[in-house]
Formats: sequence, C-alpha cells, structure tokens
Amino acid sequence: MTIHQSPETVEPEVAPPPHGAPAFKSRHAETIALHGGSFRFDPTSGAVAVPIYQTSSYQLPGTEGADKLFALEAAGHLYTRVSNPTQDAFEQRLAELEGGAAALALASGQAASAFAILNLARSGDNIVSSAGLYGGTWALFAATLKTFGIETRFVDAEDPEAFARATDERTRAYYAESLPNPKLEVFPIAEVAAIGRRHGVPLIVDNTAAPLIIRPLEHGAAIVVYSTTKYIGGHGTSIGGAIVDSGTFPWTEHRERHPNLHEPDPSYQGKTWIEKADAIGFHPYILRARAVLLRDLGAAISPQNAFQFIQGLETLPLRLRQHNENAEKVAEFLKGHPKVERVIFPKFQEGEAKARAERTFKPGTYGALVGFELKGGREAGRRFIDNLQLFYHLANIGDARSLAIHPSTTTHSQLSIEDQLSTGVTPGYVRLSIGLEHPDDLIADLDRAIGLS
Ligand code: PLP
Repeated sequence: MTIHQSPETVEPEVAPPPHGAPAFKSRHAETIALHGGSFRFDPTSGAVAVPIYQTSSYQLPGTEGADKLFALEAAGHLYTRVSNPTQDAFEQRLAELEGGAAALALASGQAASAFAILNLARSGDNIVSSAGLYGGTWALFAATLKTFGIETRFVDAEDPEAFARATDERTRAYYAESLPNPKLEVFPIAEVAAIGRRHGVPLIVDNTAAPLIIRPLEHGAAIVVYSTTKYIGGHGTSIGGAIVDSGTFPWTEHRERHPNLHEPDPSYQGKTWIEKADAIGFHPYILRARAVLLRDLGAAISPQNAFQFIQGLETLPLRLRQHNENAEKVAEFLKGHPKVERVIFPKFQEGEAKARAERTFKPGTYGALVGFELKGGREAGRRFIDNLQLFYHLANIGDARSLAIHPSTTTHSQLSIEDQLSTGVTPGYVRLSIGLEHPDDLIADLDRAIGLS
C-alpha cells in the first residue's frame, strides 16, 4: 500500500527526470492539475499519461518484504481493494490541488462521506451537521448511520453557534456542504471550523459544488470530501469520490475525543493509529480510512475510473473558469426576464449570505449552479422542462453539458409541500447546472422554454 504525503515529504516513487533536475513545484492550480504529485512518467515504458494499472494484486517482494508491507512498515501495493498506482497518482494530484496533505479516492461520493464519518464515529457517538445537504447524504446521516448507533444532530448553518450548542463529549465531527443547493448560500466554514478547533472537533466539508473556487482547508476545515462524479470528472462518465486530509488537525491534543485514532487496534499489532502513522511519517486519519475502512468495507475506486478522474483534473481549472463565466451570463439573463420571479445565485444575495459569498469564493466567481423561480409555479416549471432542447433534464450537477431539473416534481417530490419549502424548494423552482456550451445558445434555449412555460 502506498500512503501519500504532502509533496514536500513524499519520497518519489519513480526516478527523477533523466536530466536530474528536481521536481518543478508550482502554486498555480493550472500547473498542479497537470503535474501535481510524484508521477512524472511510467518508469518502465516512459508513458507520460498515467497508465491504467488494471490489476487486482501485486508481486510481493520476498517474505521479509511482504511482512513489512502487511504490517504497514513499508510503502507498496498489495491488493487493489486497498491501493493501486493509478489511484495513487489521482490521490496525490487531488491532495496537492486542494492544498491538503493526503487523499483517499473511493468508489463514489456517498462512500467518501460515509467513510469520512465512520473513520471517527462509533455506535453511541454523534456528529453535528448542517441541514443543508444533498438528499443522499441526508438519508445516510438521518437513517442509515442512525441504524449504526451514530446520531446526527442537524443544525441551521445560519447560526454557527448552533454547532457549539449541539456538541457534547461524544461529538466526533462537524459536517457541511460548502455550497448547498437549492439555497446556494455559502456555508460559514471559517466560523464553524474555529468552533470545532476549540472543542477538538474536525469540520468535514463536502466541496463537490465548488472545487478550486472555494478552498475549505484555507478557511480552517480539517477534511474535504468530494463526489468526483461532478466537476472533477466533468464529463459525466464515472462515479467516484474522495477524502482529502488537511494534515493540520491536532488529533493528538484530543485523545478522549477521538478514540478511533487513540485506542489500540488489535488488527494492527495492538498499536494505535496515531502511533502507527507516526512511526512511518503518515497522517493518521487518512491512513486509518484506507487501512481499516477500505480493507473492511471495500468501496474501492476502479483503476479505470481513477484514470478518468485524472483526465478530469487536468482541465478542471480551465473548465471551472468557463462554467463560472457562463453561469454568470445565464443568471444575469434570467434576472431580467419578465416571467422569472426570482433568481437564486450567490452574486445576487444580500446581507450576511452575500458577505460570506464574497469572502469565501475565489474573487469574481460564484459557482455554476443557478436556481430560478418561474412566476407560473409548478405547472410552468413542468412546461419549462418539457420545452428544453439543449439542456438535459436530469438529476446531476457538474457535467460539461448543461442540466436542468424541477425539484418539486422530481428530487423532492416525496416531501410534503411544507417540507419542500423548508429546504428552499418552491413549486416553480428550477435548478440549472451550467455547462460549457456557448452562453448565447444556453440563453436562447432558456428564453424559448421560458416563453412556452
Ligand atoms: N455530495 C453532493 C453535494 C452531491 O451532489 C452528491 C451527488 O449528487 C454526492 C455527494 C454523492 O455523490 P455520488 O453520486 O458520487 O455518490
């Protein structure tokens, strides 16, 4: 198994370039997206694109070497359920791009959020989560984790102190989405992360909707999770997820708070994960997630999908720029349309929500999700969707293609009208995920469909 470190501390796994120059280090996302991590070229073939290492297992280096690998005393791959070189290259690049120390790629975004919590919480423990969550995460926390004995205390993100009030000695993590939809109000990452650090509770942020344009680790979050299925993949071809560890959370100062890291693990020579990680210079949180949860629960990403996400990462900064630019044009168009009641877009928010958006987003960006409400309500929403020619009607975000959905009759249709309203879904609300087509075409498609709604 290879367990990755920040680029500063990692031992390169491949030979340095033939001219012997040290690896180029950049601060710029555009460069890191193409060169981040220790992979430079395949040492056997010289291939520059990261190969798809389509193998389930690996030749062991003799019995003594195997002993060390199995005991996590040496780096190397054993079995693709736990690690794989293509996955490794993706994880290193993603960690570097996020400003983190190490990452773990998984089979889906759902696996990433589940692992992020299960790595810290056991039966009898609790987490405090913002109520502004993707429906799948809500179901995981409210129903499935509950059956595991893990309680989720949902609080309103508008009141950061609510996280402190909901905390007790069994609270193991705080959880939130950086840009939850449909409200599209940026989460107070810095405020809640600071509360968490006072209590020894790490803030885990799902940054799926805003990679690169919101940088949760810079605002104090301890862990970032992604559904890489969305912008990171970008082409709508693959399901995947990832956890990025900042490497800065002071676990050792909070022994009682984090028993999973501080109690001896009988399956690893009775050592604690803090000791185990310390002995080999790794980060305990991400080491345990891989060595325990991937080993036992097995939600491994396939080498093929890890490769697809590397392709996605390479153009992520460029794509995000265009997504943002297109979304702003579309939002401005909708704002001026007589049949549109209201446009939900961070640029148009007011008060604290706007101030938070301005201090959290990369300057000049507001993301590529745009909500709007048609004056004609539910029936107008349905007619609008049926008249789209370019936008796809589907329940996803972050694709290169533009997507639209009418939540009241689809994703939120199981909820009562009152519950729909409390999550921000009004009968005429439509959510758009703005893609990379020419903005004039997007506006023409919307104009026509709104006209017929
Ligand atoms: N987090 C967010 C914000 C999402 O939108 C989604 C999926 O829509 C997920 C997590 C779950 O990701 P996946 O579908 O890759 O399991």
